[in-house]
Amino acid sequence: MKNFDRSKQAYQEAVELMPGGVNSPVRAFKSVGMDPIFMEKGEGSRLFDVDGNEYIDYVLSYGPLILGHADERVTDALTKVTAHGTSFGAPTEIENQLADLVRERVPSIEMLRMVNSGTEATMSALRVARGYTGRDKILKFEGNYHGHGDSLLIKAGSGVATLGLPDSPGVPASIAQNTITVPYNDLKSVQYVFEEYGDDLAAVIIEPVSGNMGVVPPKESFLQELRQLTEDNGTVLIFDEVMTGFRVGYHSAQGHFGVTPDMTCLGKVIGGGLPVGAYGGKREIMERVAPVGDIYQAGTLSGNPLAMTAGYQTISAMTEEAYASISERVDQLIEGYKKAAETYDIPLTVNRAGSMVGFFFTNEPVYNFETANQSDLDMFKRYYQGMIQEGVYLPPSQFEGMFLSVKHTEADIEQTIEAVNKVFSTLK
Ligand code: PMP
Repeated sequence: MKNFDRSKQAYQEAVELMPGGVNSPVRAFKSVGMDPIFMEKGEGSRLFDVDGNEYIDYVLSYGPLILGHADERVTDALTKVTAHGTSFGAPTEIENQLADLVRERVPSIEMLRMVNSGTEATMSALRVARGYTGRDKILKFEGNYHGHGDSLLIKAGSGVATLGLPDSPGVPASIAQNTITVPYNDLKSVQYVFEEYGDDLAAVIIEPVSGNMGVVPPKESFLQELRQLTEDNGTVLIFDEVMTGFRVGYHSAQGHFGVTPDMTCLGKVIGGGLPVGAYGGKREIMERVAPVGDIYQAGTLSGNPLAMTAGYQTISAMTEEAYASISERVDQLIEGYKKAAETYDIPLTVNRAGSMVGFFFTNEPVYNFETANQSDLDMFKRYYQGMIQEGVYLPPSQFEGMFLSVKHTEADIEQTIEAVNKVFSTLK
């Protein structure tokens, strides 16, 4: 058994200082029945904790580190720019460079604004969509997470389409009632909402591949149908590509599926491990943003030169070949998991879109939040704890996908599959 003494000590101190001892809830490992592991350093595909335990890392800071830990292109560039100062509150050329690169890869983004997190990106995009259309209501999908902004932290009730109820105390009911939530991949519900509220809908916001109920891709033509309905009703279609952006593939999810949204939210990879988000889209919409337009949004550290540098280095390094190589590793991983599941008779459903992959402990297809919830969570917990003992660090929830980087080698995947076989053999 691994020794976690120093992690345990740090955790005891942390719980007195921060709620749950963490600065973001998922890190507390509650759903897998463990205490958090405190990390010391990362190197490529590997992560090392404060007790000296080594892991193959499939969390990668929940997505940003697509080049792996401590990639030299990123760390060297950061060392150089840091020597010139860390923030100026004035424009810098690196902001142009990153913005230009983003536009090149994601052409629906004609203009963009850098912010500091995915949450900020979605909150800002919603304000702009509402200001642009002069409408208040928005439609989102059950099981899609768009950060913790008031309008988006909304749970769906049962039934076809439900007026939103807050998912958390502190979200005013008066705000929640403007958020309509329907099941993911359920076109009929979307059509119903458009019939009832079409003229009042400012925006439809969607994860074009959901990564926050495990990995759940859109059904064929679902995104195309959304595109048509929003266009017909003068509603802004927002793709939240905070997770999928520069992850699913070279042109992000919208390129992968060939659907062009009006606005896009970005985060994670775009900051290469530093705090960045961005929102952008059609010029006509983005020119409503201050100071050109009348819709206000601002940020003291937005476009921070360190963050822009890490993002620029990361996205530049992600060539088409780099995506193809991650995709091959994903193929290898899927094959290994499927074989292990067959050998040990473990219920397993694999969902995949480009370089995004997720495994569910169920034999039923997973296409929305309800079907994702049919997974065997107790089995997931035991699998998780076993994998940690085997030196494989996974996202600590059935409702997160696995993240791979360009540094994950064939040997890493083989080692992971060995661990999977060992752990699966104990699950039944
Ligand atoms: N949107 C999506 C699709 C996300 O996955 C996340 C974070 N997991 C967010 C928004 C929020 O981003 P952040 O945590 O950077 O605020």
